[in-house]
Amino acid sequence: MDIQKFRATAARKKKSLTAFIIKMDEIIPHDLPELVERLDAEVWKEVDCTTCANCCKTMTPTFTAADVKRIATHLHMSPKSFREKWLKKEDGSKDWVNTTQPCQFLADNKCSIYEVRPADCAEFPHHNKTPFDAYNETFKNNLVHCPATLMLIDKMKKVVEKEYEW
Ligand code: SF4
Ligand code: SF4
Repeated sequence: MDIQKFRATAARKKKSLTAFIIKMDEIIPHDLPELVERLDAEVWKEVDCTTCANCCKTMTPTFTAADVKRIATHLHMSPKSFREKWLKKEDGSKDWVNTTQPCQFLADNKCSIYEVRPADCAEFPHHNKTPFDAYNETFKNNLVHCPATLMLIDKMKKVVEKEYEW
């Protein structure tokens, strides 16, 4: 994954893809689930997360109480020590999030706690959430962080603007 190239592409396309997502808040293609499934399958033939890890380097997951307990147990720590060592409460939401980026569990571009990673990480980049458009805000934010999301929204824009009354 060429992250510099991704960043340049994301900067160039951010405005038009954001406008597309905003429009999708109002006009939802009738076969959106099928469209997303088809295009997302194409995306993952081209994107390999193991050569990227940009989400782990530039974002933080939220840690639920269950995440903290599971990961702390895995690391032979108490949940309290775990929170004190690595987490803080996010301003506004009060979710538990990482204090530093890249994530402290990223090692050699891979997740060192993969089997017990936060649910938020396991579900990222949320392309299979339903309904897809309920996560438009998330996709807008993630365009500049995740090459897979950038590619999916770009593909969707091309298809929707060509094949749908839009
Ligand atoms: S816990 Fe693992 S998957 Fe989640 S951000 Fe950290 S390194 Fe990435
Ligand atoms: S989910 Fe997105 S940002 Fe994270 S490693 Fe995969 S392609 Fe990169």
